Amino acid sequence: MSRLLEVEDLQVSFKTYGGEVKAVRGVDFYLNQGEVLAVVGESGCGKSVTAQSIMGLLPKKVSRIKGGSVTFEGEEILGLPKKQMQAIKGSKIGLISQDPMTSLNPTMMVGKQIAEVIKKHTDIAKNQIKVRVIELLAMVGLPNPEQRYSQYPHELSGGMRQRVLIAMAISCDPQLIIADEPTTALDVTIQAQILDLLKDLQKSLDTSIMIITHDLGVVAEVAQRVAVMYAGVIVESGTVEEIFENPDHPYTWGLLNSIPKYGSGEKDRLIPIQGSPPDLFAPPTGCPFAARCEYAMEICVQEMPDKKRTSETHHARCWLNDPRAPLVKDLISAGRAE
Ligand code: SF4
Repeated sequence: MSRLLEVEDLQVSFKTYGGEVKAVRGVDFYLNQGEVLAVVGESGCGKSVTAQSIMGLLPKKVSRIKGGSVTFEGEEILGLPKKQMQAIKGSKIGLISQDPMTSLNPTMMVGKQIAEVIKKHTDIAKNQIKVRVIELLAMVGLPNPEQRYSQYPHELSGGMRQRVLIAMAISCDPQLIIADEPTTALDVTIQAQILDLLKDLQKSLDTSIMIITHDLGVVAEVAQRVAVMYAGVIVESGTVEEIFENPDHPYTWGLLNSIPKYGSGEKDRLIPIQGSPPDLFAPPTGCPFAARCEYAMEICVQEMPDKKRTSETHHARCWLNDPRAPLVKDLISAGRAE
């Protein structure tokens, strides 16, 4: 599989009245051609800021990219001039945002909004654009696509509006779709339909998808690889099997313990992760999860653990993976954790 997107040591800060918020602190991950990668973590962990950095959508006045690199098809795209980035957005990278109501123009017919994108980024003949839009609306499963073309966003349900956004994102055959919490605003049955649609489109169009979510259920449903993000850092990454069956980081263990399991009974209570994420005005020098981690050792608060590789595809940043660390069962029997 060839590498489509590579993010290395990305660092992004925001200027606020209270000082500098270090929202993304050295993020690394990659996405191969035709692959679905899920970036998962709690709100505020920096996953959407990472996506906005890739798309060049950070608010210029208050944000600053402090370092790192983002290569797309082998070319550096971080900090590209607006015009060059505009050419990539839409034609090569499509975006599906979490709130279709604010992403669509309420005063314009949805078909016309998709037509605008096609006009801007492709050389399809003018008289063919409407035909293409109707084809796209049908592809994303909207009934009566000819009629939908002339409707306004408020005339459609939340699920339908999300389908319109997906049609817009795929309208120029992008190599990469970034889907930022695409199902968060939808009810459960519609969520499942949208995820099925994304999976079908990924296969039929052979595109790559980077899906951003806080929901491990979404990850299990659509992704092949997962990057777990916490306090602006990727703390673990691996294939879906590696992350769900053999996770290597206490934060990932916590996330997995806090979701219901199929067939679990009343006695199997969900265990929430206690505490809250660190203050990113003054992030800790050591492991960002240390204050919430029941296995924390002295070294954890002093030094950020390096990335340790347990397979070609599986990495975690945790001192427990250091060969000198005690086994978790030793820490438990020593009364450090119960
Ligand atoms: Fe817990 Fe230490 Fe691992 Fe951080 S490095 S997750 S504090 S054991």
